[in-house]
Order: sequence, then structure tokens, then C-alpha cells
Amino acid sequence: NVRVRFCPSPTGTPHVGMVRTALFNWAEARHTKGTFVFRIEDTDAQRDSQESYDQILEALRWLGLTWDEGIDVGGPHGPYRQSERTEIYKDVAAKLLDAGFAYESFSTPEEIEARNAAAGRPKAFGYDGFDRNLSEEQKEAFRAEGRKPAIRIKMPDENISFNDLIRGEIEFKAGSVPDYVIVRPNGDPLYTLTNPVDDAMMDINVVLRGEDLLSSTPRQIVLYRYLMELGIAKQVPLFGHMPYVMGEGKKKLSKRDPESNLFLHRENGFIREGLLNYLAGLGWSISADRDVFTMEEMIENFDVRDVKANPAHFDLDKAIAINAEHIRMLEPDDFLRRSIPYLFKDGAVSAENWDELTDRERQILTDSVGLVQPRVRLLGEVSGMVASLLSEEEYIEPEADARKQLKDSAAEVLDMAVATMAEIPAEEFKAEHVHEVLTAELVEKAGIKPRLAFGPVRVAVSGRRVSPPLFESMEILGKDLSIARLAELRK
Ligand code: GLU
Repeated sequence: NVRVRFCPSPTGTPHVGMVRTALFNWAEARHTKGTFVFRIEDTDAQRDSQESYDQILEALRWLGLTWDEGIDVGGPHGPYRQSERTEIYKDVAAKLLDAGFAYESFSTPEEIEARNAAAGRPKAFGYDGFDRNLSEEQKEAFRAEGRKPAIRIKMPDENISFNDLIRGEIEFKAGSVPDYVIVRPNGDPLYTLTNPVDDAMMDINVVLRGEDLLSSTPRQIVLYRYLMELGIAKQVPLFGHMPYVMGEGKKKLSKRDPESNLFLHRENGFIREGLLNYLAGLGWSISADRDVFTMEEMIENFDVRDVKANPAHFDLDKAIAINAEHIRMLEPDDFLRRSIPYLFKDGAVSAENWDELTDRERQILTDSVGLVQPRVRLLGEVSGMVASLLSEEEYIEPEADARKQLKDSAAEVLDMAVATMAEIPAEEFKAEHVHEVLTAELVEKAGIKPRLAFGPVRVAVSGRRVSPPLFESMEILGKDLSIARLAELRK
């Protein structure tokens, strides 16, 4: 039974790299019918916040990345929030000390640096193992000075290698990783301790995480071996380190880049299906010739061993194009319901959800969904498409860009169009018919080019140069309002 985990630290707003990590772990669990554990690593009171915690939960829920054990849902290995596990870490640290796998270290950073300088070692050498074999008297002397010890893990003098699920064989040479701190002098346990201890106690056997954590793996492997000797861990998990996500140019996408911000993407109108599909492509692909797929298809095909080790590039245009495909796959009804909050935010409708809309709003949205859904790439674009249809105004102020279509000849065109439309009986005011009649009068009889004939009409009806199809829009608006808008623009 594969047991994977997602264990973010609540230090900011959810970002793209974090979501990709959650997604790959989730997909691995679902593909193998394993267990997806969700833990929160909030041991850094300085940086952690409840707001970030809430946002991470909201993000997973919105994305539909459900977990089997962990925060809120509970499970046999709780609590799943590290700030509630302090006693456990104290206890494990004491056991590691007792067994001689860890030791008290009184050296200050300044002393370590001074010793390295005196011995001609580079600063990057780090900790030199000075406190490994202090006698009880020496420790007492340090304590008498008022010093408090950190606790460090003893790294063995041997190469440490493992087979990364994504990168293959990786080896760290003996002596390249110094003895490291697991508990600060003030008693605070660090990530170096809490993360492997929890993974061990929660019986995690596959660890999938970002490439930035690769350097902590040899330390964790050593700690797992000690935890196994203490009967706390059952195994050293398998590790897979996912590639960096790159942004513009050759830079890593930073958590602070707007392109990284999950909720910004949601605000702009990404739907979860589109965003997840795109993020899945950051390191993984379903096949060489396909980049649009559903989460069901991902689950069926996902294997962490197929993830590529080379950096993935975040490409917003591509993400939007994939989102458009998923928008088209939605049931029209679902598409409309999901669009309403965006329409409401833009002031295009009177309420935030479908049931509270007016009958007229519901009618127009239902009539126009077939025109709109294939033409938007983000839900944020829907209101631009339907606002003019929903509006009861007789005059739609043309956008600056659209005004360019209203050259001098437009007056004549609009007058002819009004006269022609007025002749059509209201019950025959259907898209195809209006199109035929206007084409006959304006294009065929009067000899005006279609673009010059219909451009101004479109601007009058929608106020925009780009809008849902013109004649369908007129049908939805009805004869009177369509004519009124043309006539108003003439004034
Ligand atoms: N809390 C750590 C982080 O957010 C988890 C790292 C890991 O997956 O081991 O970076």
C-alpha cells in the first residue's frame, strides 16, 4: 500500500509549485489505490500563519485534491498538525540522544566559523563535529557558562546513496554532509527532525517533493536508519524529487511572482480542470502527442517514474489555451453556474448564484451559452461577452477600440440597417433571417463590403469589436432593443 504525503508549511499564499507537489502525490496515491496523507508543518511560529493554513485547505478543496488521512478528516496517526505534536518530537529527540545517534552541541556559529578559519577550511565547510565527544565535565562547564545546547545528528563516515524515483542513482560522498541540528538551543524542533519523524510515524513509504529538498535527503536517510533501530520507523521511504518550475527567462518561478499565485489564476477564471491539467504537464505528460486530459485519465496513467528530471517552464499562454479546452468540455449548465460569480463581480448580473438571478438574466444566459462557451478561455472573459446582452440599456458606450469602426460612412450604414430591420416582423426576427435580409440590402443592393456594413452594427449592438456572433446576439436582444441600439448610436 503506497502511502504518500503532502506537507506544506503555511507561510504564504498557495503557489503553483506547491499545487504541483500536491497534485503528483495525489495522482500517485489514486493511481496505486494508496493513501494520500495531508499534514501541516507549522513549527516555525515566526513565519507560519493561520491565514496561510486556511488558504492551503481552501486550495486543495477547490482543486478537488481529496485526502484520505490528515487535517480535518483525521486518521490513525494524528494529530496531523505539527504544532500539536511537540511532545512527540521531544520524546524522539531524547531517545536519539540516549542511543548516541545524536549529541548536545554547544558551539556557537561564531566559534564554528573561527575554527574553520584557523584550520584553513572554507566557510561553506559548515559544522566541524567539535562537540561530538565532549566529556560530561566539558558539558557541565559549558552549562555553567549559561550555554544551552542544540541537538545534532551524528552523520556516519560513509557514502550515502539512494535511487531517486525521478533522477536515478544519487550519491553523497562520506564527509560531505556535516552533523546537523535537529533541536535548537531554545528547545524548538526543526524541519530536519519533525519531517522524517512524522513521515516515519505516519508510515509514509514514498516521498515526492521538490528538487530544492534534495540536499536534505542524505540527512533524512541517516535519521531514518536511526529511527528504524529505535523501532520508530519501519522503512526508509523511496524518494522522488520533482523538477523546478521555471518562470520567464531562465529564472526559477518565485513564490512571489504573480504567475505563481493560485488564487490569482482562479480570479482570472481558470477552472480547476484546466489548471490541474496544465500543472500536471510541468514534468509529466500523458503521451507525446497529447496535452489535454482529464484527472481521471491522469490517475489512470500516472507513474512517478515517468516524471522528467529537467526543469519545467511555466507558460501562461499555454495554460490559458488548455483551460479553454476544459471550459468547452463543461456541461453548459455547469459552465453558466461557474461563471455567475465572475459576472456578478463585474456587475453584469444582479446576484452571485444562479437561483437568485432574475428570470430575464437566466433566460439570456441560457439563450447565449452556446455562443459564449466556445469563445472564452477564462471565466473572467464571460462578462465581456454577455454584458451587452444582459444590459437593458438602449445605448452601449463603444469601447475605444470599437470606436475606430465608426467612420463617417457608419451613419449611412446604421440608418439603412435600422430601416431594413424595422421591416422584419418581430416573430421573424431570427439570426439567420436578419443576416439574410441585411446582407441583401446592405451588401448586395447597396454594394457595401460586409466588414464595413456589419462592423458598425456590431459596435452599436455590443459596444465591442469582438463579441458573440452578431445576428445571434440580435435575436437574443430582440427586434426592439436591437433597433433602439442602432438608432441611439446615430444620435
Ligand atoms: N514543509 C516542507 C515544505 O513545505 C515539506 C518538505 C518535504 O516535502 O519534505 O517545504
